[in-house]
Amino acid sequence: MHLLIAKKPDDKYTIVIGCGRLGANLANTLSDEGGNVLIIDRDKDAFRKLSPSFGGLTLTGDATDIDILQEAQISKADTLVAVTNSDNTNIMAAQIARELFQIKRVIARLYDPERECVYREFGIATICPAILSANEIDKILSEAGISDNDPEEEGQ
Ligand code: AMP
Repeated sequence: MHLLIAKKPDDKYTIVIGCGRLGANLANTLSDEGGNVLIIDRDKDAFRKLSPSFGGLTLTGDATDIDILQEAQISKADTLVAVTNSDNTNIMAAQIARELFQIKRVIARLYDPERECVYREFGIATICPAILSANEIDKILSEAGISDNDPEEEGQ
């Protein structure tokens, strides 16, 4: 199969790796915003998560396979986002994108918070759900703490 990516002059081309809950959501959003999106997953059933309005391309295959990435025309991508359920896969795909294809923006999801800072040094932005969730919960608790105190303060 050969994919033709017809890029409009100012359009960005984004490759999303992993059509799980996060990847499908992201691909739907980018597509709804009018971007050129291609999403890769090794399980073709995963593409069922895409919305009926998804206007991008899908590619079935292992995202650590260089032939698959070339089929996805990785060299034309402005951004690659690796969000499979495997840190190793996300790191490998992100490193291939940065080192071999010099993709400008590369983002990888990492479940393991301890690996996060290592990959920043390679020019790979990392998203760690555990850290993001902890920060958000802390924020909610702080805000709740402030508002919980308000009625008491008012009553004094
Ligand atoms: P989730 O667990 O909802 O984040 O989904 C992760 C997705 O990543 C699943 O649809 C997997 O099939 C997909 N996935 C895992 N490993 C690979 C890989 N090496 N190449 C492509 N897709 C993968």
